[in-house]
Amino acid sequence: MQIEPQAFDRVLSSMCTEPHPVAREAAERFLATNPGDPGTYPTVSALEDEAIERLGEIAGLDEPAGYVASGGTEANVQAVRIARERADSSRPNVVMPESGHFSFRKAADVLGVELRIVPTDDRHRATVEAVRATVDDDTALVIGVAGTTEYGRVDPIPELGEIARSVDAMFHVDAAWGGFVLPFTDYEWHFGHAPVDTMSIDPHKMGQAAVPAGGLLVRSPELLDELAVDTPYLESTSQATLTGTRSGAGVASAVAAMDELWPAGYRRQYVRSQNNAEWLADALKKRGYAVVEPSLPLVAADVDRGTFEALRAKGWRLSRTAADELRIVCMPHVTRTMLASFVGDLDRLEVR
Ligand code: PLP
Repeated sequence: MQIEPQAFDRVLSSMCTEPHPVAREAAERFLATNPGDPGTYPTVSALEDEAIERLGEIAGLDEPAGYVASGGTEANVQAVRIARERADSSRPNVVMPESGHFSFRKAADVLGVELRIVPTDDRHRATVEAVRATVDDDTALVIGVAGTTEYGRVDPIPELGEIARSVDAMFHVDAAWGGFVLPFTDYEWHFGHAPVDTMSIDPHKMGQAAVPAGGLLVRSPELLDELAVDTPYLESTSQATLTGTRSGAGVASAVAAMDELWPAGYRRQYVRSQNNAEWLADALKKRGYAVVEPSLPLVAADVDRGTFEALRAKGWRLSRTAADELRIVCMPHVTRTMLASFVGDLDRLEVR
């Protein structure tokens, strides 16, 4: 059976991308390994330690611990779980801006915590005052997003961290998508300087690793103890991950991609993606669309649903925001030629 995998030449909606060639090659070599059983698969387990060290370096954490998860969803669920385990309250709540990823709804559901959602401001960032007014003594976790799924916006991370501290709650930063671009932007803060306890940062998004390779980072190793369960039948004695058997391919490809691209390759990629996003935003503005400025390489614009469906019918893979705007993610596989062809199709639709 010969089925061709998804081609990327019209994909403008995904937060995943084609893996870098070195990541693809590493993934193939480690397909049959399981970092979930480090006693039996020590080589891939050692690679996972390297992956965490690299991710820590990218995130600016001094003494990072964590693991390579299946993706941002697992990392977010585990962050909520750590906070719930450490909370004193019998009715813990989690406070997140409305721009937070839907994985936190799953987390709240399976972990039985209350999720309090606070509005964002007119720039789509968490409203600090609203977060401050929502936390209380039962707050176990405050969440900030560094690169939101819909608009690529970065919340006021230091301020949110301070609010978390003021009520003895933990602070989680979801940088699942933005983590590999933020070190190259002008944000004056650094993850390492803000009081961040846990972080999601996914190699399989902007990190250009193969799927599945997500990242959960914790500020210090004892936070992982909150997740550990005994593992009687494995060679190792305990496991902190949510899934049991995990992808050695994801781990190996994450290390290969980071070795190859950090920092110069990722910087070049960020500049290229950001320029593409700004070019697209300009092109859409010139055609009369209202555009949400791309602070990271993600563009949203008020393209109506009819036009959107017509573009989809031409093979473009597109998505929409909750506010019903067109949303385009300028991932590494998205080239200027692709965007020009997309805008060309848009123009042809408008003429008719
Ligand atoms: N967090 C953010 C900010 C995301 O954008 C996404 C997915 O796009 C996730 C978490 C979930 O990641 P995954 O789909 O890898 O589980």
